[in-house]
Amino acid sequence: MKKRYGNYIGAILHHTTGSENQTLKDMENIAKAKGYGAVSYNYLIKRDTKNNQASIKTGRNTYWVGAHTYIENDSKAKKDPLAKGDKNYYNKNWLGIALIGDYEKNQINSDYLENVIKSIAHIIEVINKKQGQKIKYLRGHREVDNTLCPGKSVYLKMDYIRDKVSKILGYTLLK
Ligand SMILES: [Zn+2]
Repeated sequence: MKKRYGNYIGAILHHTTGSENQTLKDMENIAKAKGYGAVSYNYLIKRDTKNNQASIKTGRNTYWVGAHTYIENDSKAKKDPLAKGDKNYYNKNWLGIALIGDYEKNQINSDYLENVIKSIAHIIEVINKKQGQKIKYLRGHREVDNTLCPGKSVYLKMDYIRDKVSKILGYTLLK
């Protein structure tokens, strides 16, 4: 894994596409079997299926470049005013936050969504404080590349999620 430089300016929301019951340990084992040094996301959010609470798990250490948003689509990378053709751009100064589960196949529970929003705001607050600079952007993976991630039921709520996370943070996150 490569060392990362500079502050985070944004966060990308993903889903893992696997089972909701997957543990961080399962995902670490899969990542290691593929030859990756660590899980590709910096944070993972897990649903408690009994009460729809969300818990935050720490994935890849922010010391390292991430492996969550490699822009597969050439023209998307070139047209992106921030990435400027760098396909690995979002892995450098953007946090990877993943919801454990498959939100293309499954609808996100509305109570859980509210807890996800609080969790995202909490993660951003922690990073903002740590680096002394505010994260400016929150995007769904599908907003930057041709992918289904973070799944239809989350993708369709990205504006709502940005708006509510912004309200908790007290400043407006950009798309
Ligand atoms: Zn993704």
